[in-house]
Amino acid sequence: MFSWFKRKSCDLCKGKLTSPTKYLNERDEEISVCFQCVPQAERKALRRK
Ligand SMILES: [Zn+2]
Repeated sequence: MFSWFKRKSCDLCKGKLTSPTKYLNERDEEISVCFQCVPQAERKALRRK
């Protein structure tokens, strides 16, 4: 409903989200990661959703 209000940005670099990939962090929270940060997320052994 208010999705326009919640602007999406990359949870790792806080930059603009380009083709986001969803991961779960160590606290099982869903994070969106831009394509540039995917290797970083993989290195942190985050689980892809
Ligand atoms: Zn990023």
